[in-house]
Amino acid sequence: MAGEEPPAAVAADGEQPLVCPGCAREHPPSERFCKACGMPLVHMSGAAEQTVSERQSKARKIKPQYSEGKLVKVAGAQNGAEAEMIQGLLLEEGIPSMAQRSLGADVPDFLVAGRRDILVPESGAEAAREALAWDEALAWEGPVGS
Ligand SMILES: [Zn+2]
Repeated sequence: MAGEEPPAAVAADGEQPLVCPGCAREHPPSERFCKACGMPLVHMSGAAEQTVSERQSKARKIKPQYSEGKLVKVAGAQNGAEAEMIQGLLLEEGIPSMAQRSLGADVPDFLVAGRRDILVPESGAEAAREALAWDEALAWEGPVGS
């Protein structure tokens, strides 16, 4: 097996621009966290080209111990796209989640782009909050000024 070169796509992956799932700002590949809001940056292509098979493979990542209990809100998203980003982040930790339009007493139906609540099973809520908070902790250590 020695001598086989990795597919070119793997090498090219690190070159792609990063985008913040929180505010959609673009960042150079050298950045890891959004300077504006501290969210971990994601590859634009990863968000845009997510296929059904990728979704299925992600589904296999879900940890059963995070799938129990009633759904509780762990985060809020400004819109459906941001909700998807947060859900992807949680899935990386093996936590299943669902996005639900934020409930109001009288939310009109036309607000399809409105805020979403991110819900996870109660057994995964603590891990989810940690997953969503760790970026803030690391942001403090951020780029060291020279
Ligand atoms: Zn941001």
